Amino acid sequence: MKHSGATQRGQAPRLDLLAESELGRTGFRLAFPDALEKRYWDDIGAERLHEIRTIVWWGVTGYFCLGILLNLTVIPDPDWRSVAIQLGGACTAVLLILHFGLRSKNAVTTRENGLLACGLICSTAAMLVITAKPAPATMRDFLLAIPPASFVLVFVRLRFAQTLGFFVVNLAVFALVLVSRPEIRPGDAVFLIGFMMTLLLPSLVGAHAYERASRRIYLHRLLDRLRSEALEVQNAALTDLSYTDALTGVANRRRLDEALAELAAAPGAAGALLLVDIDRFKAFNDRYGHLAGDACLCHVAKCLAANLRSDDLLARFGGEEFAVLLTQAAMDDATQTADRLRDAVQHLQFVVDGRPASVTISVGLAMREGAGTPEALIGSADIALYAAKHAGRNRVRVAAPGHDREQAMSA
Ligand code: GH3
Ligand code: MG
Ligand code: MG
Repeated sequence: MKHSGATQRGQAPRLDLLAESELGRTGFRLAFPDALEKRYWDDIGAERLHEIRTIVWWGVTGYFCLGILLNLTVIPDPDWRSVAIQLGGACTAVLLILHFGLRSKNAVTTRENGLLACGLICSTAAMLVITAKPAPATMRDFLLAIPPASFVLVFVRLRFAQTLGFFVVNLAVFALVLVSRPEIRPGDAVFLIGFMMTLLLPSLVGAHAYERASRRIYLHRLLDRLRSEALEVQNAALTDLSYTDALTGVANRRRLDEALAELAAAPGAAGALLLVDIDRFKAFNDRYGHLAGDACLCHVAKCLAANLRSDDLLARFGGEEFAVLLTQAAMDDATQTADRLRDAVQHLQFVVDGRPASVTISVGLAMREGAGTPEALIGSADIALYAAKHAGRNRVRVAAPGHDREQAMSA
């Protein structure tokens, strides 16, 4: 059957579509399509095992304790050979399964079936022990053999398919044991079988309704989770977008302002700001056109990024200006970086309308001083940039503390 979630061949089916289509499906079948079923067991397997394990432990312990108690008190002349078989044999089998079958390296289904086998051993042991009992077996023996099966069906919350198997096996063993004891009259045997079915059938029907309901609740929760995951991804993408310059793909002014504010909030943290301005860019635009100018901005941004470390922040400051924030950088480091950028752009060649083109940049560098504000840092770098332009472009100038524009130009 083709599910609407499995859109195209080779593509992973979309779980949200599968879940929605499953919620709209009616009918007896409980299993989901493969991908959804796998996710279902991945999500609920551990918790379900934990629950079943607790119930089985308590059930098995209760079963053995009750068995001993009944044999010591209510049951007249207990046959200790049967009791030993029932308690010793079944107990050993259950402990072996619990030990080997429930190791965490085993698959969830294996471990779950191990727990089911524990329940089955207890419930059928209670019936089989009647076969070993010396004659005459009584109606009471058979009635006492039913509760373990009833306990497993009511409390262990088996899946429907397991419940069905469990129901059939118990009924068959019960019938065989009844046949093996001719002292039970046929009328009483029919009554006992009917009594057992009356007790167990509601659990069988209930198991289907219960599994269906819990699967539907799971689907609703899964859909909620998938939707909020998708929203988180969209939000993260939107946040990225709001911090990215649309043309060049580097960080935008907003991101730079936040980084400068963070730096300002960390008193004493070293840092340097480079203001990078493309030289005579107006002339470039006039010569090659604005689209070529845009492409040039992208080439320059890429070149600058390629010559920075991953923790340096490159942002488009506006127009044909970029800013580079070097956190924890000392003066030597910062001047070397500025000159490396200038040199890299100078040697950057790109093609415009089939013709080779290139540009140069001027860089103004300002070191963070004490508890200076972001505005002060930008102002200093701007003055240094102004000086670099004034000195003939394609060069780096470092801001001198306290210099204004005119002092910077005459320096
Ligand atoms: P200087 O060396 O003094 O910096 O000269 P300049 O020509 O680079 O400086 P000016 O400020 O005179 O001109 C900047 C130019 O940058 C003008 C403007 O058209 C261009 N520009 C700003 N933003 C963009 C953009 O996004 N795309 C393009 N193609 N051009 C831009
Ligand atoms: Mg400019
Ligand atoms: Mg310029």
